[in-house]
Amino acid sequence: MTLRLFDTYARAVRDFEPLDPSEVRMYACGPTVYDYAHIGNLRTYVFEDILRRVLEFNGYQVRHVMNITDVGHLVSDADTGEDKMELGARRAGKSAWEIADYYTQEFRQDLNRLNILEPTIWCKATDHIPEQIEMIRCIEAKGFTYRTSDGIYFDTSHLADYGHLARLDTSGLRAGARVDKGEKRNPTDFALWKFSPPDQKRQMEWDSPWGIGFPGWHIECSAMSAKYLGTFFDIHCGGEDHVPVHHTNEIAQTEACHGTRLANFWMHGHFLLFEQAKMAKSAGDFLRTQTLIDRGYDPLAYRYFCLGAHYRAKLSFTWEALDAAATALQRLRTTAHDWGQPGKANLTYVNRFKGQINKDLNMPRALAVVWELVKDDLSPSIKKATLLQFDRVLGLRLAEWQPEEAVIPREIMALVEEREKARSAKQWKDADELRERVRQAGYEIEDTPKGPKIKVAKQERF
Ligand code: AMP
Ligand code: ZN
Repeated sequence: MTLRLFDTYARAVRDFEPLDPSEVRMYACGPTVYDYAHIGNLRTYVFEDILRRVLEFNGYQVRHVMNITDVGHLVSDADTGEDKMELGARRAGKSAWEIADYYTQEFRQDLNRLNILEPTIWCKATDHIPEQIEMIRCIEAKGFTYRTSDGIYFDTSHLADYGHLARLDTSGLRAGARVDKGEKRNPTDFALWKFSPPDQKRQMEWDSPWGIGFPGWHIECSAMSAKYLGTFFDIHCGGEDHVPVHHTNEIAQTEACHGTRLANFWMHGHFLLFEQAKMAKSAGDFLRTQTLIDRGYDPLAYRYFCLGAHYRAKLSFTWEALDAAATALQRLRTTAHDWGQPGKANLTYVNRFKGQINKDLNMPRALAVVWELVKDDLSPSIKKATLLQFDRVLGLRLAEWQPEEAVIPREIMALVEEREKARSAKQWKDADELRERVRQAGYEIEDTPKGPKIKVAKQERF
């Protein structure tokens, strides 16, 4: 059963074959650690996690590299504006190094909450300044650079197929460019090295053959991927916004320096939309895993929500859809728990599931197979074992889950008992008032044939 994946570079679904059969080499662009990750960012990391798990399900060993951008990502993709790290530091009244550490730890916690497997190798841009300088020298030696008053730039007009990944119309861009390109020769040219402003000492700056400054954002990924995965590796992935600028420029740098294509497959996760708008960190207010937890959701409900859409489709976030995902996840957990101990997996089902995940990670169809299994009249032990096989890809921690009895405070239980007495005495008004008092204390009473069940109430949403 061949694994087929959509390659943005070819704009086609292609059969996946590893370049080296012993190991699949995969690079995922990581976070810029100047703020928390929002759940939109995390949709991209869930997609990459599914990709990695599907590769592993197919028996491949995966070397998964993720960078941490802790310098050089400027507020504007056109290489202007402040460095996001220095901006974040000023906002927090801390050093750029401190906030990089803090948000990196927070990011790792987010990954753990969503059961996203840790990359095999983490690499930080600031730990690889010499490698980046070396690569810029290489690009310079091949004649692709020029100098302006604020940095060393890549001349994109020197590369015949510049912009192929994004199908950029570079001649049209050049001819019609009304954008203020400053000293840049072409609108698509980008910084490899930026000089520190002459009147200002940056927190993060290094000496270089061109002067004191810091690397441009794109060079870190070309330099670190080459170091840890080689100059041509299997899969490079990220969010769809990386196609026209960041990944296009990574390809340009690698082609200029090494003369290779960088990656065999380019894969991009589409955006999570929030009320039809792009969820941007810079927009200020945003949702993160902690927000979901504060509102009483298990972060894995968000993971389940992501699985409900194909990664190449935009997905609109709504609380109703998250509720539906939380309910489905809970049903799956309790059902699987009731099945008891696993026996032997059903191979027909495992193969059907694999058929769906191997069709360019079709998780919505894979979930449909999950629910068919739930309804099937196979023995519980077979169903349990089969579902646990699926969970190697779903990543819903189904084997670990245990029903938890909420601890209800004694005074709440006293109110509930009082309400029961009022109900049996048919004092409905009193009973309703008592229910309201319980509700105001943050608990819900659900009347069941076996008596009242008390639950922690969900918080109000905005
Ligand atoms: P950043 O930390 O801003 O560099 O972004 C981290 C990752 O999140 C990148 O791979 C982006 O492509 C991705 N990303 C940003 N916004 C969204 C969104 N709304 N939905 C999905 N992915 C996103
Ligand atoms: Zn990158």
